[in-house]
Amino acid sequence: MRLALIAHDGKKAELVSFVLRNKAHLKEADLYATGTTGKHLEKAGFKVTSLLSGPFGGDAQIAAMLATGELDMIIFFRDPLGMHPHEPDVQMLLRLCDVHNIPLATNPASAELFLDGM
Ligand code: PGA
Repeated sequence: MRLALIAHDGKKAELVSFVLRNKAHLKEADLYATGTTGKHLEKAGFKVTSLLSGPFGGDAQIAAMLATGELDMIIFFRDPLGMHPHEPDVQMLLRLCDVHNIPLATNPASAELFLDGM
């Protein structure tokens, strides 16, 4: 399972607590993350391949990977109350998940269901 993890700044703490809660599910997975999210995950003890930070192209890198069949699932905790300079990249990523039928969870409740179904 190749899993990408992304969280907007207002959701990073929530993502870290989510992955810690679901450690058992994730121990077999290859984890990829946008830059700052990756740093948080490494600090929490996870081995993760970090890409560029989101606003500098990290979401676009994740989008390219999923489009070329290199990712199996995306967990992206978006902050619906924040403004993001890279919103076009975020929209591209969401669109490509639908184009390529890649499971995408944007909040802990749905991510939990995905991992239970793995
Ligand atoms: P970040 O990017 O992990 O580098 O903060 C996430 C995002 O904002 O899309």
